[in-house]
Amino acid sequence: MREYRLLVAAGLVFVQLSDKHDNGFAGVIDKLCKDRLIVPGFTIKVRTPAEMVVENAFDENHFGPVHGISVSGAFGARPSESGELAVDAVVNSAGLGAQALARRTEDYPQDRVPRLVLARGNYFGYAGRPVFSRLVYPAPRIDGGLGTHVTLDLAGRMRFGPDVEWIDEENYNVNPERAKSFYASIRRYWPALPDNSLQPDYAGVRPKLTGPGEPAADFMIEGPAHHGLPGLVHMFGIESPGLTSSLSLADEVVTQLDAGSISA
Ligand SMILES: Cc1cc2nc3c(=O)[nH]c(=O)nc-3n(C[C@H](O)[C@H](O)[C@H](O)COP(=O)(O)OP(=O)(O)OC[C@H]3O[C@@H](n4cnc5c(N)ncnc54)[C@H](O)[C@@H]3O)c2cc1C
Repeated sequence: MREYRLLVAAGLVFVQLSDKHDNGFAGVIDKLCKDRLIVPGFTIKVRTPAEMVVENAFDENHFGPVHGISVSGAFGARPSESGELAVDAVVNSAGLGAQALARRTEDYPQDRVPRLVLARGNYFGYAGRPVFSRLVYPAPRIDGGLGTHVTLDLAGRMRFGPDVEWIDEENYNVNPERAKSFYASIRRYWPALPDNSLQPDYAGVRPKLTGPGEPAADFMIEGPAHHGLPGLVHMFGIESPGLTSSLSLADEVVTQLDAGSISA
């Protein structure tokens, strides 16, 4: 998850959207606040990417980003810079944010945090009438994924994907140029796919633990028996089939929380 620098001053929230240059804005506001009373005169609604809402908790009733995990004294999660919540156990299942949160876990050995490799999965939608009534999964041939399979949405429309595109930063834009490779792989099992029938649809980003050409890594579930901190489980690399395996994953987490049940 991308994190944005925030400045909260005089009841106003400023979000720094780009790190490209620092124009000294924070310093100016800071100076103004020292010798002036600033009264916000109006509020405006803003449109913003969902990840910014989640990370910065604009709506704290629904989205409480965890800024850190402390283990000294009462075991707890820090849902804001200033607040702390005492709990019996913390399960870090933050997906793409799991490594960042693990790094912000007090006393957690930093060298246990695995690298995070981002692999975008793009989907293309089919513009015409559906020709398949079932999901079609070709035998996997691509590095890092299951191959370009056919899915059907709730309205019965056909969608193809996901492919595997290794990326450096979290970004969900589908590059229309990738349609070329989709036509080629879909025509392996549907040679009659018409030209110009695919449109960019949506994308998801996998939190992988290994990169291109490397053998796929298994899910990494780090419980007390691995790192020695009771009541803490970090879940890394929960990509596909994480959803399908969610009940088994939950069982494993409960087992690991029962300290000592797994040898390091
Ligand atoms: C393209 C694609 C196709 C897939 N297809 C399948 C499939 O067919 N079958 C299948 O089983 N699985 C599939 N998966 C995998 C599946 O989506 C994941 O395994 C599953 O979503 C993992 O669930 P999770 O709860 O661990 O993480 P996520 O669903 O990633 O949820 C993590 C949540 O934590 C939040 N978060 C992050 N940092 C913080 C923080 N500091 N504080 C608070 N919240 C935070 C995030 O905003 C997010 O809401 C697919 C994934 C992709 C990308």
